[in-house]
Amino acid sequence: MTLMRILPKTLKNLVSSFRKLSSVGQKTAERYAFELFEWSTQETEFLAEAVRAVKNKLTRCDACSCIKEAGASCPFCDPVTRNEEILCIVSHIKDPFLIEESRAFKGLYHVLPNLFSPFEEKDIASENIQRLLGRLEKLPVKEVILALDTTLEGDATALYFQNLLRPRGVKVTRLAYGIPIGSNIHYFDSQTLHQALSGRQVLT
Ligand SMILES: [Zn+2]
Repeated sequence: MTLMRILPKTLKNLVSSFRKLSSVGQKTAERYAFELFEWSTQETEFLAEAVRAVKNKLTRCDACSCIKEAGASCPFCDPVTRNEEILCIVSHIKDPFLIEESRAFKGLYHVLPNLFSPFEEKDIASENIQRLLGRLEKLPVKEVILALDTTLEGDATALYFQNLLRPRGVKVTRLAYGIPIGSNIHYFDSQTLHQALSGRQVLT
């Protein structure tokens, strides 16, 4: 039974917002809303500011599309600390952080948020593809790793990049299997990702 019908409007608004988070059901959302009322003013203001800052203080890097603090340089594009001969294409903004945690990769990243789908009219944003190609022209990239989901969308995207990048003389590799088919890579721990990166294979 949901309490929504009888909750004060302010709590209802909170519950509705929490419900949008993945894995948060109605009862959990209601519990969170009541818990917040018990927090101190300072704690709730800190939370409110942290939520606001997600939109005000975070941005995407113009080059790789990874998340970074607005106004700061992108740590994933730093020519001093990163190996510019290898670039990893990921489809989720969280993935670079997971791959970093695996400590198996020190190269560059490129986030392409929309995967090409074999079933829908959903194409990778061509502007982002042009940006990727522009980076490959300027940087000494010798290998592109496709760290894509092992789903039909991921497979279709891998084939797309294989055909796009191979004629440009770039070695194209994909994360080794060992990650279950039909899963999203951002659910795996750093050890699993480490193994997948270490065992990557050249696409034939
Ligand atoms: Zn960057």
